[in-house]
Amino acid sequence: NTAFTGDGVVVIGLGRFGTAVAQSLVHLGHDVLAMDESAQLVQDWSHRLTHVVEADSTNADTLRKLGVQDFAHAVVAIGTDIEASVLTVLALSELGVPDIWAKALSPNHGRILERTGAHHVVYPEAAMGERVAHLVTGKMIDFIEFDDGFAIVKTTAPAEATGKTLSESGVRTKHGVTVVGVKRPHQDFTYATQDTMVERGDLLIVSGPTAMVEKFAALK
Ligand code: ADP
Repeated sequence: NTAFTGDGVVVIGLGRFGTAVAQSLVHLGHDVLAMDESAQLVQDWSHRLTHVVEADSTNADTLRKLGVQDFAHAVVAIGTDIEASVLTVLALSELGVPDIWAKALSPNHGRILERTGAHHVVYPEAAMGERVAHLVTGKMIDFIEFDDGFAIVKTTAPAEATGKTLSESGVRTKHGVTVVGVKRPHQDFTYATQDTMVERGDLLIVSGPTAMVEKFAALK
């Protein structure tokens, strides 16, 4: 564990979610210790992730021997085995890991994880389902919603906004949303101003209250 700096991340459970998290962290340049109780999975991933150990994460002593208490962050990516997920969060919490993230399969699972010491609970299936719903029903190309009912979307420019500048089309006054960026095909995104011309086929990055952003993105 001396190989790890103070900002390392331990990822527990090498299923689909855990391996996606671990690989992305490695790509972003973080030190990652990945852990799974399955010898097969540990072997499968040992050449793609730098540090992979076979261990039962529900045992606090085992985690301590691996130096997990020195990690700044932990991600518990165990889903199906709810008992193992809860016990792992509890063990990490007992070791004093300052930033514990855990995946939950249901709201009740999530509530238990929060009570057990998880600082952040994520619901990958529910979150992705909600996202896909936004993407399939509108013509949003990408969608991010923040906690406070505020969203940013990438969408194609509606006919009423094309062939004129943003101040001429009056998007903010009419629709209550702000165009933040504009992208012409084959060009980079540029920050939008009052005088930015919007043409047919342009992509817009639009922010505002979720409902208004959704309505704007649905315009043809
Ligand atoms: P996904 O849906 O993302 O594939 P799973 O819940 O199916 O997630 O996978 C979780 C992983 O966590 C499995 O590879 C399993 O071996 C591992 N796991 C489950 N319990 C423990 C445990 N006590 N210690 C370490 N790893 C565990």
